Amino acid sequence: MLDSSNARRQRTALVAGGAGFVGSHLCDELLAAGNRVICVDSYLTGSPANVAPLQNHPDFNMIEHDICNPLVFAEHVDQIYNLACPASPPLYQADPIHTMMTNVIGTANLLQLAARHGASFLQASTSEVYGDPEEHPQHEDYWGHVNCTGPRACYDEGKRAAEALCFDSLRAGDVDARVVRIFNTYGPRMQPNDGRIVSNLIVQALRDEPLTIYGNGAQTRSFCYVSDLVDGLTRLMNVQPNPAVPVNIGNPGEFTIAELADMVCAMLPTRSRVLNGPLPADDPQRRRPDIARARELLGWEPKISLDDGLSRTIAWFQHALLEQARHQNPGTSAKVARAAGSSQGI
Ligand code: NAD
Ligand code: UDP
Repeated sequence: MLDSSNARRQRTALVAGGAGFVGSHLCDELLAAGNRVICVDSYLTGSPANVAPLQNHPDFNMIEHDICNPLVFAEHVDQIYNLACPASPPLYQADPIHTMMTNVIGTANLLQLAARHGASFLQASTSEVYGDPEEHPQHEDYWGHVNCTGPRACYDEGKRAAEALCFDSLRAGDVDARVVRIFNTYGPRMQPNDGRIVSNLIVQALRDEPLTIYGNGAQTRSFCYVSDLVDGLTRLMNVQPNPAVPVNIGNPGEFTIAELADMVCAMLPTRSRVLNGPLPADDPQRRRPDIARARELLGWEPKISLDDGLSRTIAWFQHALLEQARHQNPGTSAKVARAAGSSQGI
């Protein structure tokens, strides 16, 4: 059952990590639904450009802040979404101790804020809590297979500790905490230099650069379009009663990385060719969500196919790369338009 108790009063939602890829789409959605939104972000991996269109919105407030430091607010907050954490492996490994602190100290700070305000809390956890899974597909009851000493541990173990903080806060009666386990999500507003597979392949194909595939490309992932994820996040935040269990949100369609590269190349005119590189340490070999729980508790399932989502994402990157080039050097726009293989005349 979805909650309607606050229907007559404008709700205030705080989105930590709201200037990031997913967070900015969540801010858009919350504002469109009539909420007031406070975005808290350090801009570590996010961008002011992601929230620039919201800056003049009367219900939007941007606060530049690192959640590793405590937050104090005079204004009442009804809901807190914690999305603050780098999500791309090269970026979360760039400063692994800060990644761990963001997940542990940052989440603890936000849970304390939620407790003071009596706010509901949604933690963005990850399919990475399953590690390199030995069960397939991954159901929420699976405890996972994580290397706690490897280079991914700052993220995987950080997120596992954050889940523990949430469920301890819930059991103690301190916070109405909820936990979503997000599987690989893609879409407009990923940073071109983010380093994740979908953005890398699209940017490389648009620039006629080699398509970097780590290992032989036989590893699998399941790709969810960002609007489907945001729908799942708001449903889990508002469902009553609190499910009190983690919920997978992801698209169960499973593709090898080689198949993904073929799909991207088929959608663009590109001269790019595959360049195989070494597989990163502890890279999960396969990943697919079991979404039975999301279907049952939230009435949620993904609506956007990979074909559709990729073509929307490619169109966005074509435009974004052209704008970036125009900004850097107005004289290169025609060349970049050709290099981008733009079929839209932008
Ligand atoms: P992103 O890197 O685009 O966004 C993260 C945002 O958090 C950025 O704006 C960044 O500046 C901000 N941030 C990072 N550390 C911070 C700190 N200490 N204080 C304040 N702000 C900080 O990543 P995303 O893909 O939008 O992911 C959002 C959330 O969803 C993350 O928590 C991530 O772990 C989770 N998630 C995402 C995916 C995915 O595929 N996109 C998958 C699993 C989990
Ligand atoms: N990957 C790749 N080439 C790239 C970036 C990633 O082959 O340029 C691989 C990576 O090794 C992993 C998969 O693609 O097997 C998904 O990587 P991503 O960083 O997007 O997400 P995650 O590993 O966190 O699922």
